[in-house]
Amino acid sequence: MDIKDFRFDGTKKFKVKKFDTKQKGSFDDRVEAEDRRDDHIMDLQGLQDRLYAEGKEGVLIIFQAMDAAGKDGSVRYVMSGINPAGVSVHNFKVPSSKELSHDFLWRAMKVAPQRGMITIFNRSYYEDVLVVKVHKLHKKVPLPERVVTDDIFEERYEQIKNYEKHLHQNGFRVIKIFLNVSKEEQKERFLQRIDDPARNWKFSDGDIVERGYWKKYMKAYEDAINATATPECPWYVVPADRKWFARAVIAEIVVSTLESMNPQFPEVSEERKVELLKFREMLINEM
Ligand code: ADP
Repeated sequence: MDIKDFRFDGTKKFKVKKFDTKQKGSFDDRVEAEDRRDDHIMDLQGLQDRLYAEGKEGVLIIFQAMDAAGKDGSVRYVMSGINPAGVSVHNFKVPSSKELSHDFLWRAMKVAPQRGMITIFNRSYYEDVLVVKVHKLHKKVPLPERVVTDDIFEERYEQIKNYEKHLHQNGFRVIKIFLNVSKEEQKERFLQRIDDPARNWKFSDGDIVERGYWKKYMKAYEDAINATATPECPWYVVPADRKWFARAVIAEIVVSTLESMNPQFPEVSEERKVELLKFREMLINEM
């Protein structure tokens, strides 16, 4: 599997219609993909330790997707096996009135990663160019007329791009993942949620309503991804009809990004080594 196939950095266009959501790369079967994934989780632990110890760069991982595409499972999966002290997760829901009284990036900026940390956004400020665009919600919130123009989303793409560039230039990596599930697969997953009492809680009436806007959402995703994909802050469109394949791809994306950052444990100076030896002596000779 080559994650370059799924990487969009502005040099090629993402086209929903041309993207195969069922693909499974070069994996013959699920077991092979899961083995690879487990190896990556081990690598991730070591890389996260170094990222935390070095404390210079931080990582923001954004998950965006239609309902039932596997966002929650993907977040759980990235979290599995890594040190909880070095990671935080934020879910972006319908904005509160306080959040709406600020600019749309405010609520994300407040919880942006610290150096040494991995921060995961389950949905993000991209909702402000996705659900807001599809349902024209910008016309229903208190915004001045001069702002509510035909260009509002083009302007927001620019604002998002600038914000992500700002993060990058200040020592943070931004990984943006779109879990691309097909409409047919979503139907299967909704049916499972209805048929299995243990999963009933996962289904909400609104899910069916949003499904009705599928085409508009796909266009909004396509436009947002193409407008905000850059070499520094690329998008990854992950085929999500097979959950095991999606997770293998996500593991590879996260590990390869951290590897390219190559965090290091802080170097211990010669002076410090001498001091540590003194402390060692003290402990050994303790009465
Ligand atoms: P999830 O579906 O992520 O598990 P919820 O069922 O609580 O969690 O859904 C969160 C909802 O909040 C989604 O329908 C999403 O579109 C909506 N939402 C998030 N951000 C915004 C926003 N800026 N404006 C309007 N709706 C938003």
